[in-house]
Amino acid sequence: MEKRDPAWRVDPDRIRTDWETLATFVDPSRPGHTRRAFSPQDRAARRWVARRMEEAGLAVTVDAAGNVWGLRPGTRDGPKLVTGSHTDTVDGGGRFDGIAGVLAALEVARVLDEAGVRLRLPLAVVDFVAEEPSPFGLSCVGSRAVSGHLAVEHLSLRDDAGRTLGEAIAQLGGDPARLASARLGPDDVAAFVELHVEQGPYLERAGARVGVVTGIVGIDRYDVEILGERGHSGTLPMSDRHDAAVAAARLVLDLMAEAARHPGAVVCTAGRWQVAPGAYNVVPGEARVGVEWRALDPTVSDAMEEALALALRALEGQGYRAEARRVSREAPVPLSPAVQDILLAAARDLGHDAPRLASWAGHDTVQMAHVTERVGMLFVPSRGGLSHSPEEWSEIADVAEGARCLAQAIVRLDGSLA
Ligand SMILES: [Zn+2]
Repeated sequence: MEKRDPAWRVDPDRIRTDWETLATFVDPSRPGHTRRAFSPQDRAARRWVARRMEEAGLAVTVDAAGNVWGLRPGTRDGPKLVTGSHTDTVDGGGRFDGIAGVLAALEVARVLDEAGVRLRLPLAVVDFVAEEPSPFGLSCVGSRAVSGHLAVEHLSLRDDAGRTLGEAIAQLGGDPARLASARLGPDDVAAFVELHVEQGPYLERAGARVGVVTGIVGIDRYDVEILGERGHSGTLPMSDRHDAAVAAARLVLDLMAEAARHPGAVVCTAGRWQVAPGAYNVVPGEARVGVEWRALDPTVSDAMEEALALALRALEGQGYRAEARRVSREAPVPLSPAVQDILLAAARDLGHDAPRLASWAGHDTVQMAHVTERVGMLFVPSRGGLSHSPEEWSEIADVAEGARCLAQAIVRLDGSLA
């Protein structure tokens, strides 16, 4: 690789300056680095992103959903290569989640120009609206609109201040009355690649500076309700008890044991517990527990579901009434093997032996997978695997390395798709 290639022009200092500026648009009344979607700070940050896009020579538009797009024309019209992410944060969030992907995409647009590279396909840089759960109870608002999964009814959802989602989108410069015009299809998008911080510990542990994502895990959630028998905590002999809390604990441990049979392939969490009546001196008669598992391989999700069914049946055999209600099921999203190969080849061009890994968190890429089958993600390491926290940290040098791989991949994609 010679130094005149665009990837070699990626400038960590320029990325750092952008990152420092973007990090000033935060809500001072909230902890950490908070820039909730649709807040005044979010609006200001998005205007700043649009200005930086213009300074990079991109033609800026705001679509009907409020997404900010910066377009770099190709030598011919047609479907675009799209890259970007989001700049909103969770309450008490960090400075890298989503942001790294938008800043890397901006840097890619600049280095292509500086290297005098004319792509055949148009390139679009995007800053999606409200990827994190918004004050309207909905996440991935902007990318949902792009994929056609934001319904007109969603626009009348209200935040705590009584503002509707439609009004909030209009405040970003969107046009909710023309929501459908934000929708894109395979004729508009040739491929979508999102750079993101890993938010987990695998790359750091592997000593890798960049990784290629194989897919985004599916998420299954269940509410389990167990009815036992309430009794006096002193007088009821242990052998006579149907303690609903103990039964719930057994069921959860059965699920954890099943998860342990698929090391690295599933994560399982029982994070919501309610026990009634909830007193020191009463054997609990009722327990409710909310469980979630995430897996990329649907056969592993099926095995977890089977383990749940077995655990429920075992409790029934012991005299409990036990049932589970599915709260939600999000299917896993496998990412394009062809795009993965291009990302790996791009990383290899730059001397990186990038590991493949799953994404255990959701991303705008989930929505973009409805738009085009050619979707991919690049991860850069997160220190200690921490995210959604003020302690979230990635080295700017690693973000820059990711941006170099992204630039290289964009050039390769253009070559393979144009
Ligand atoms: Zn994110």
